[in-house]
Formats: sequence, structure tokens, C-alpha cells
Amino acid sequence: MRRVLICLFLTVCLVFAMAAAASRPFASGLTVIMDFKGIHSDSSIREMERESTSILKSTGLIVDWRLRNDALGKSYENLVVMTFKGACRFDREPRVYDELGPLASTDTANHEILPFGQVDCDHVVDAARSAMFGGDFAMADLLVGRALGRVVTHEIIHMLTHSAEHGRDGVFEASLSGKQLIAPSLPLSAMDVDRLQLQR
Ligand SMILES: [Zn+2]
Repeated sequence: MRRVLICLFLTVCLVFAMAAAASRPFASGLTVIMDFKGIHSDSSIREMERESTSILKSTGLIVDWRLRNDALGKSYENLVVMTFKGACRFDREPRVYDELGPLASTDTANHEILPFGQVDCDHVVDAARSAMFGGDFAMADLLVGRALGRVVTHEIIHMLTHSAEHGRDGVFEASLSGKQLIAPSLPLSAMDVDRLQLQR
């Protein structure tokens, strides 16, 4: 089964590194600011939030989700910003995207992982759709949301651990198949739960 590289690290300018330093250390609460650049399904996004919150709950982390426009002018103690490119909703027809690229990326500067990530929604939707069959299509919005939740969680773990290393199994593997992205469950491995708890 084809597996897709989950993430890539992009080097950005120093001003973001300063913002990242200000956001440390991560405590028991985390705010995720969501910036959608394209169309998205509300039900898929709700499922994304639910899935990611559920996975990260195993580490004791409580996640608060905010749309970018709702967060403007407010301050949050610990936050990460996820930008969603493309269309974050199920579509039976494949869309154009970089097939060789990752599902998501996280910014770095001065060899530091920053709390800024990007998700390629078209790629995630395609990976999820490739694993669907039969009755899955009747719950495609939910399955797309589940896949998005797992990809976002993967990037958040990089940000929280400040590490580009991956886990050996579970949602923090370096690459995942479409089947893993929509399977009923894909938790963090016990090793990754420990790794995250040590950060706090
Ligand atoms: Zn990764």
C-alpha cells in the first residue's frame, strides 16, 4: 500500500523564530489557530478538531481550536498556527496538487521547529479517498476530517517536542497510508505519549 510522507520542514525568516521563543514552554493547554485559505467542510473540520483533541488527550493536553478571524487581537499563552491550503472537503474528483510533496509542513528557523504549520488539504483528501470503499463514501466528510485531524496532530507533536524525529508506530510515523489516515483508530504510541509528557 502506498504510504505518503507526512511532513516537511521549511526554513523561514528569523522574525518567526522570535515568535516561537515567546510561545514556550507548552503547558497543559494549547490553542490551535486555524487559517483556511480555501473552501472547507464545517463537519470535516469539527471531526478534525475532535480527532486531534482525542489523540492529544492521552498526553493530558487540552486543545482549544480557534479560527484566525476569531483570534485576531487576542493573546494566548501557548499557541500554534495551522494554515490550510487547497479545499478541505471531500470531493469525488481528484484535484491538482504536488503528488511528490508531503501532506503537511512545519516551519523552522535557525534549526528550531516553529509553531507554524501548513496542511495540503487537496493531498490529504486524495490520500483519504484512495483508501475509501463501499459504505465509506457515505461518511466521506467524517473520514476526511479524521485524516486531517491525524495530519494536524502529527505536526503539532513536532512543534511541542521541538524535534524532527518520528515515532516508530502510530500517528507520529514518518509516513502513513491512506488506510491509516481513515482507520477507526490511530493513537500515539506509548513512547510518543511519554515523549510529549516529558516536555511539560
Ligand atoms: Zn513528521
